[in-house]
Amino acid sequence: MQFRDLPKQYEVLKSQIDEAMIRVASSARFISGPEVKELEKSLADYVGVKHCITCANGTDAITIAMRAMGVGKGDAVFVPDFTFFSSGECPADEGATPIFVDVDEETFNIDPVKLEETVKRIIAEGKYKARAVVAVDLFGQPADYEAIRTVCDKYGLLLMEDAAQGFGGNINGKMACSFGDIATTSFFPAKPLGCYGDGGAIFTDSDEWADLIRSICVHGKDTGNPDDPNAKYNNIRIGKNSRLDTIQAAILIPKFKAFTDYELDDINRVASWYTEGLKDAGVVTPKISDGYYSSWAQYTIKLPESSDRKMIQSKLKEYGIPAMVYYAKPMHLQGAFKDTDSAMADCPITEKLCKTVLSLPIDPYKTREEIDLVISKLRGLL
Ligand SMILES: *Cc1c(COP(=O)(O)O)cnc(C)c1O
Repeated sequence: MQFRDLPKQYEVLKSQIDEAMIRVASSARFISGPEVKELEKSLADYVGVKHCITCANGTDAITIAMRAMGVGKGDAVFVPDFTFFSSGECPADEGATPIFVDVDEETFNIDPVKLEETVKRIIAEGKYKARAVVAVDLFGQPADYEAIRTVCDKYGLLLMEDAAQGFGGNINGKMACSFGDIATTSFFPAKPLGCYGDGGAIFTDSDEWADLIRSICVHGKDTGNPDDPNAKYNNIRIGKNSRLDTIQAAILIPKFKAFTDYELDDINRVASWYTEGLKDAGVVTPKISDGYYSSWAQYTIKLPESSDRKMIQSKLKEYGIPAMVYYAKPMHLQGAFKDTDSAMADCPITEKLCKTVLSLPIDPYKTREEIDLVISKLRGLL
């Protein structure tokens, strides 16, 4: 069994994806081809924001968002302690100090009450300027943006939404990637909407930030003169080289159609099979809050603290069932933050989650039989 069955998805979409790859190869418009613009427009329309700017990967997307917001040295950026490394790596890469905040035990997302406590502490200490929040839509479920936005407004913080795992989710119909002042996503192959390599995108309603982001993505080019064919070589700021390849955009166009036509429904059905089948099995199944819709980047259960997770994981592997630990280490304990102020965090929930979580194989193409097999083998091990 595959953890996320990308070969199966390719089998289903093969003719369209092959056609797309060959079309780009024969046109030789490998960089900034027409598919890139077409994809950006569809994604912006779907999310319901004015601008989508694609880039090289989800990590660059966050770094570029931080740079466009002017976040840097001396700034504190509040980041959940339970997330993928990039969420904290990128603010640090821009010179800011990530301050890690504990998460909600049920949703795995940043706890807005602890966020406010932490913001107050940083302001009182006075060493850093409280500047921004990087909220993460972990495992596919959007964070609690109503409460997070209230904290941001109260303390004058910018809000960045890291929706690398959240694309396709929504809260009462308002789409993930539309909650932040700037939002980012990733098209890494295993994400809810993945391409065939690295890719990412940045979303914003702000015309000014959109221009700035387009400039940063291409070596700080002058975006003020779109009619000047040489403006690309007029570099008005230090930027990066961060673009989505045309071939990836062309692959994403049919994949995005499948994603919205049926994959999101199907993966939600697969998740409900797990939740039903693992009821009373002695594990805690993921909780999706009322009005929230997940795109299920992961299906993550919590094992009892007394159970031997390593044994369960390796026994499942013997049965041909891959299960993964996302994440085994709290951000504030990562070696990269050793001896920095980012290492100082009070996050008992995250520490507990890191010891008990286990992510089970999920994707829109899983069959009832496959899920029933995982459920029965897991029940046998508990
Ligand atoms: C995957 C991921 C990223 C980084 O995306 P890449 O495209 O791999 O650079 C950032 N944040 C979170 C929460 C992620 O899961």
